[in-house]
Amino acid sequence: MNILLLGSGGREHALAWKLASSTLTDRLFCAPGNAGIAQEAECVALDITDHAAVIAFCKANTIDFVVVGPEGPLVAGVVDDLEAAGLKTFGPTKSAARLEGSKGFTKDLCRANNIPTAAYERFAAAAPAKAYVRSQGAPIVVKADGLAAGKGVVVAQSVGEAEAAIDMMFAGGLGAAGAEVVVEEFLSGEEASFFALCDGESAIPLISAQDHKRVFDGDQGPNTGGMGAYSPAPVMTPELTRRAMDEIVLPTVRAMKAMGAPYKGVLYAGLMITAQGPKLIEYNVRFGDPECQVIMLRLMSDLVPALLACCDGVLGNFDLRWYPDSALTVVMAAKGYPGSYAKGTLIEGLDAAATVEGVEIFHAGTQVRDGNVVANGGRVLNVCATGASVAIAQARAYQAIERIHWSNGFFRRDIGWQAIARESR
Ligand code: AMP
Repeated sequence: MNILLLGSGGREHALAWKLASSTLTDRLFCAPGNAGIAQEAECVALDITDHAAVIAFCKANTIDFVVVGPEGPLVAGVVDDLEAAGLKTFGPTKSAARLEGSKGFTKDLCRANNIPTAAYERFAAAAPAKAYVRSQGAPIVVKADGLAAGKGVVVAQSVGEAEAAIDMMFAGGLGAAGAEVVVEEFLSGEEASFFALCDGESAIPLISAQDHKRVFDGDQGPNTGGMGAYSPAPVMTPELTRRAMDEIVLPTVRAMKAMGAPYKGVLYAGLMITAQGPKLIEYNVRFGDPECQVIMLRLMSDLVPALLACCDGVLGNFDLRWYPDSALTVVMAAKGYPGSYAKGTLIEGLDAAATVEGVEIFHAGTQVRDGNVVANGGRVLNVCATGASVAIAQARAYQAIERIHWSNGFFRRDIGWQAIARESR
């Protein structure tokens, strides 16, 4: 098969690496890709927001299957347009992608189907939202309805902070994403990421993985897209996996089908493990980045038939096999991230780093300039490793990082700490 992958981050490098290893893959293209993806796929400078251009490329290159990495194109309806042009495409349609594209949509779906989630109300204006906040008290959580690149959630410790967030969103601080706001109950517990492949009718869980959202060691500092991840995540016990499937994912798949928007693709549930059990914090309609990187490293089965089974509605007969080894990834980011940062700084030592046992390096934001790899984003590299335990994988990843020379980069030194603490108990 000729396959086109859409996206340019570390998630897409991991997907490209796994797709390239499939015996079903003849040619693999990636648009737009990055310097690392170019080692696995032919990178093409397509504007992926221009669906007609993507379709024209697919026709010209006899593409059999398109895999969409990021949420932006999914919410914009790229799957609908490609499928209408006769192209088999992995990912949810625009109406199914509302599970990520509209927090209010997801909250209402949970309420209508008894899916456990934080209590909430939706608002289209500031005054009633603020009145609701005052009636509930703090801590309380304010969320922009639409896609806001990770900046749409404010966990407010005081009523004043929540009111300021409401004013910021309705004043257009997050653009159209903040035209509607969800105010919800603060949940306490341990967070967990949960992933399932869905074919519109049935779903199968992927292996557990957990990310670290905060920028600094000890889970301090502002939220980011993710500074590292590891798998397995001991918080997702077999019992919690069963409950997350039975109480959250499967009722969602059934409800989406019933409303004529069957969900096909990977469903990523952000969960809070509360005293009452797992509750849904939010859905994402694509693989987590960087959780995807550790999941792909542990996937023994061929990825291509698994993704095709989602499109063809035959997941019910499907089984995935996994390597027993643990996997861990450390994100190297440009200094200043998640705020402003410089691009174009030189990175050296990648080849030497890649020779450490069990190490695989995925590029998240790089470019080749004059034969050198330079940084081209906030999150720039995913230094990954596998090993017999999370502790061994972590040691290998940090050993590889020591060989990377990038004066403008930084990384967390404690990725996997919760899992390692549990391993050593
Ligand atoms: P989200 O973008 O919805 O995943 O939210 C970002 C982060 O905000 C989550 O990973 C949680 O740490 C936190 N968060 C979101 N909703 C809640 C909630 N209802 N209670 C407590 N923390 C929350």
